Amino acid sequence: MAELGASEIAELIAPLRVPAGSKVRLPHDFDPGYHAGFLNKSDGKRLLKRGVELLAEYQSRLAAQDTYGLLVVLQALDAGGKDGTIKHVMSGVNPQGVTVHSFKVPSATELSHDYLWRYAQSTPSRGQIGIFNRSHYEEVLVVRVHPENLDRQRLPSSAKDDGVWRRRYREINDWERYLSDNGFRIVKILLNISKEEQRQRFLKRLDRPDKNWKFSSADVTERGYWDDYQRAFSEMLSHTSTSWAPWYVVPADHKWFARICASAVIANALIELDPRYPEVSKSARRELAEARKALEAEAPDS
Ligand code: AMP
Ligand code: MG
Repeated sequence: MAELGASEIAELIAPLRVPAGSKVRLPHDFDPGYHAGFLNKSDGKRLLKRGVELLAEYQSRLAAQDTYGLLVVLQALDAGGKDGTIKHVMSGVNPQGVTVHSFKVPSATELSHDYLWRYAQSTPSRGQIGIFNRSHYEEVLVVRVHPENLDRQRLPSSAKDDGVWRRRYREINDWERYLSDNGFRIVKILLNISKEEQRQRFLKRLDRPDKNWKFSSADVTERGYWDDYQRAFSEMLSHTSTSWAPWYVVPADHKWFARICASAVIANALIELDPRYPEVSKSARRELAEARKALEAEAPDS
């Protein structure tokens, strides 16, 4: 892959997309160690650079057009590479055009509202790219794996009966459709790492003093729920990959490959949106010409 144009991008990400309505078994259907055989790490650097340039150009058009927004949802297990992906993939874009929201354990105020409330407060505005570092999908992931989180939400009993997860998938799909119908494009990326790669990354966090802060002993406890998370991911992917807000499962054991794929998924969404600089009308062009004349006629300061 010498270049990274629209068709190469589409080809690279096609196998990562979860078809709407498909039944996913994550460990079986997606290999975290996959990297397209025709690429190596040094190709990777060059392609990522190209991806970053593409994003910068499209983001500038998105902002100028001021009609559409793009929401990028990033999910992963601990040490899956969410922070590094954001740092590298968005490194070339104008910071004024991007918002990043990292969602943590909900606050008391957040728990006093409906479960989508805090996410709805943080969607991007028109002309912006918004990134959710963790997202409303935690509501069917960590909350499902640890149901005591559901108790903390103080739902009426009718809202936490047996059908709660199915209902949440439907509500999330409906909410995303509403956003999409109103000009907010959504793409969702699951950075998919293997259990062994997570172990290696945790060990690195323990070994390196500059990485210690990233480690929490809760991460090891959470790792104990690995199979539960794989099941929750599989269910989530099976029920919430839609034509208006598709999921992409990005193989994430190789960071360099995960970053190219993430930048390709985002670039592809922007290419499909195809934002344009506003056309300058005849009368506006006349005004520009007059402004130029006036400026050129001014004597330069001596
Ligand atoms: P980190 O992303 O490592 O800073 O950790 C954020 C923590 O917040 C993770 O342990 C998540 O599981 C947790 N978290 C995020 N969203 C929710 C939620 N809706 N309910 C409960 N815990 C959450
Ligand atoms: Mg963490």
